[in-house]
Amino acid sequence: MRTLLAAAMAALVVMAGAINATAQTFPNKSVTIIVPFSAGGPSDALARIMGDRMKASLGQSFVVENVTGAAGSIGVGRAVRAAPDGYTISFGHLGTHVANGAIYSLPYDLLTDLEPVVLLPSNPMVVVSKTAVPAKTLKELLAWLKANQDKATAGTAGAGSGSHIAGVYLQTLTGLRLQYVPYRGTAPALTDLVSGQIDIIVDQASNSMQQIRSGGIRAYAISDTKRLKAAPEIPTAEEAGLPGFHMTLWSGLWVPKGTPKDVIARLNAAAVEAMADPAVRKRLNDLGLEVPPRDKQTPQALAAWHKAEVDKWWPIIKKAGIKPE
Ligand code: ASP
Repeated sequence: MRTLLAAAMAALVVMAGAINATAQTFPNKSVTIIVPFSAGGPSDALARIMGDRMKASLGQSFVVENVTGAAGSIGVGRAVRAAPDGYTISFGHLGTHVANGAIYSLPYDLLTDLEPVVLLPSNPMVVVSKTAVPAKTLKELLAWLKANQDKATAGTAGAGSGSHIAGVYLQTLTGLRLQYVPYRGTAPALTDLVSGQIDIIVDQASNSMQQIRSGGIRAYAISDTKRLKAAPEIPTAEEAGLPGFHMTLWSGLWVPKGTPKDVIARLNAAAVEAMADPAVRKRLNDLGLEVPPRDKQTPQALAAWHKAEVDKWWPIIKKAGIKPE
């Protein structure tokens, strides 16, 4: 009995040592961030800004892998099935990590199969159109969309993506009907908007910003009560005549369930450091992205926020009857 006990104790000591060693040596190779949408889009851009700066803190590269399809649910699934060692991170947002759970029958549970790492910057949506649309104000755009109900097209990143939820929300508030054109991300949707293949996108501000500035597309309103510092010329929903059109698209990082807590803590600390860096903040601000307050940047805060968003959005999305493609 004594020997058994001693052997068990020795095994425990070895195990504790191994866990400690994981945290001390982590990361000793590159870390993959799975972005579930196209390269060049808003999720991809934010993941790359974060990854570049997290590399400076942790000394290893953060490689973005774009695993697209089914509004991001395929890429999230890949991350859920990865080894829980901190070397695979799931990047996602209100669409992938909340809405998709109410739309698709997912082979994973968004709240229990992933561990939260950190809440990332958020941005409002912006209603944008191709320049050939004759409207100059939101009121004129809504009138034009109404007159062209059965032909007007709205680009999205798939049923349940941020751009789709925002489009459905706009429909609910205005009584409009839109024809959706799904893409693997809003980067290719934006390319088609610029070239006039589709009519509008209710897009993440960070995706559209550059094209708005260069005149490649036209912006009508943002889904917020205050104007964006990065584009103060775009009116708020209230100013443009669509009161209550408020939606903030937030993003976050998760790791597979079972990832050691101290590895999560290291990733969290690197992300927090990145969001405090003035050079990173400048890049984020230029894209209209807002860093969450420091007390919202803990894994626990993301867990609470994630749960609250599921409770808030699932009934709304289920009622809207959004179907998978
Ligand atoms: N965030 C997505 C992307 O990066 C688009 C979306 O959710 O609308 O393409």
